[in-house]
Amino acid sequence: MSEIILILSLNYKMLIYDSHLHLDENLQIEDGIKALVSNLNSAGIAGGFVIHLLSQKFSFTDFSNAISLYPEFKVFRNIDPREELNLISLEINQAKDFGAIGIKLHPRQQEFNLMHSNIKPICELAQDLHLIINICAFDDGSWHRLGLNYPQFQMLADLYPKVNFIWSHAGGHRVIDFMFMARRTGNVFLDTSFTPNYFFRGSVKEDLLYVIESLPNRYLFGTDPLANEYEAKVKDLFEYFKNLQSDTNQLFNSNYKHLVSLYE
Ligand SMILES: [Zn+2]
Repeated sequence: MSEIILILSLNYKMLIYDSHLHLDENLQIEDGIKALVSNLNSAGIAGGFVIHLLSQKFSFTDFSNAISLYPEFKVFRNIDPREELNLISLEINQAKDFGAIGIKLHPRQQEFNLMHSNIKPICELAQDLHLIINICAFDDGSWHRLGLNYPQFQMLADLYPKVNFIWSHAGGHRVIDFMFMARRTGNVFLDTSFTPNYFFRGSVKEDLLYVIESLPNRYLFGTDPLANEYEAKVKDLFEYFKNLQSDTNQLFNSNYKHLVSLYE
């Protein structure tokens, strides 16, 4: 495997990491990891963050046990703030014990906003245990219904300056608003997953290039695609990011490596 990565990475002259991966939930865990490794090899990706979701049918412990055999992957655990705080605390501690480097909050999927009374205790625990907090930052039109709004992201990052946050999908159609909040907030990274694949027309794709160029040390390359489309999607994304005028090494490699180095 490392030979393939080396050959492919020589083509791109750097190792490339994907900050937003999931296992295919239609497969058994081991088969899902093998499929993921094979996809990454084909696409020339060296490793990345694999995010467990509560919507997946396998347990977090089985998931992280299986992934721990693959050092190129780092694990995030999905936490649901609507659960009892005692259970949440157990789950976050267990995530740390199992080697996860972060937790994932998914307001849109689990229908809450960042003012929920369990959010602050979750952030405090993540701070104590030195875990990254990854929050889905893609508004699919349901945010107002949930009482979720984008300043809540910055408020949390300001309240917990020792926690590194990842705002997933870089803000969706609000890429510029999220870039400006990140500009005033030192402890935030943004992953570029999903957004460039989603918007087939309009200014968002162009704006995403602009925000990466204007804040190049904060953006992490990510995909979040369907497993069976991985190689093709990565190819499209490489073409798209060729339009960047900033140093793509930061997006593909060094921002990721820097963030991971803080958790090793
Ligand atoms: Zn995702």
